Amino acid sequence: MRQSLIMGNWKMNGSREEGQQLAKALAEGLGSVNQEVAVCVPFVYLSDIRTVLAASPIALGAQNVADQASGAYTGEVSAAMLADCGVKYSLVGHSERRSYYGDSNESVAKRFVQAQKQNIIPVLCVGETLEEREQNRTFQVVEEQLDTVIDAAGIEAFANAVIAYEPVWAIGTGKTASDEQAQEVHKYIRQQIAKRSQAIADKVQILYGGSVKPDNAKGLFAMPDIDGGLVGGASLDAKGFLQICHSV
Ligand code: PEP
Repeated sequence: MRQSLIMGNWKMNGSREEGQQLAKALAEGLGSVNQEVAVCVPFVYLSDIRTVLAASPIALGAQNVADQASGAYTGEVSAAMLADCGVKYSLVGHSERRSYYGDSNESVAKRFVQAQKQNIIPVLCVGETLEEREQNRTFQVVEEQLDTVIDAAGIEAFANAVIAYEPVWAIGTGKTASDEQAQEVHKYIRQQIAKRSQAIADKVQILYGGSVKPDNAKGLFAMPDIDGGLVGGASLDAKGFLQICHSV
C-alpha cells in the first residue's frame, strides 16, 4: 500500500508575511492525517516557512533545483543549498519551467540527479500539451520525459523519487483531466516503470496535478494509480488545500 502525498505548489505568489500566515494556517488546521503533506515555496522564503512548519508534520519543498552541483551558475540554487534549508522535496521539470525557461528533458534529468545526491526527493513532473493530446501523442511524450530520467539516473533512483503527471492543458486552466483520463496515464507511467522493476513500480508515488480543487480531489485520489496530488492555485487557500488534504 503506497502512502498518499499531497503537495502544494505556491509558484511565484505572495509575500513573506502571506506565506508565513498560510503555513501557520496549514500547520494549525491539518490535524491528524495518514498521508504526507508538503508545500513547495519560493526559494527566498524557504527558511521562514521552515520555521513556521517546524513543529508540524508538513514537509518543505522547493520548486526547482540547479542542474549543477556548485560554481559559476549565477541565479541558480543548488541541491546542497536546498538541503541546508531543510528541503525534503524538489519539483523538477514543472511544465512552466519546461515551457518558459527552456528546461529540456536532459536538463530535468540532471536536476533530478543533483537533488538525489543531496538526499532531496525529486518530484519529476511530466505531461503533454493540448496539441500533443489532440495528436494522440500523450503516451509518447510522457514516455520520452520519463525515459530520459531513467537513462540518466537508473531505475533504482525511482525508489526515492515521486512522479507527478500534470497535463499541461489542465494546469491553472480550471480544466481537470477526468478521473479516467488521469488514471489511464498514471497506469501507463506505472507500466513503464514496471517494465524495468515491478518492485519499484509498486512503490513509486504518482501524483496528479492540474486544477485539483476541493470538489474534484476525492474522485481523482480514489483512482488506483493516483497516489495524491500536486496542487497549484488551490494550495494558496488554506481552507481549500486542507480540504484537498483530507480528500484522500
Ligand atoms: C501546478 O502548479 O503544478 C498545478 C497543477 O497548478 P494548478 O493546480 O493551479 O493547475
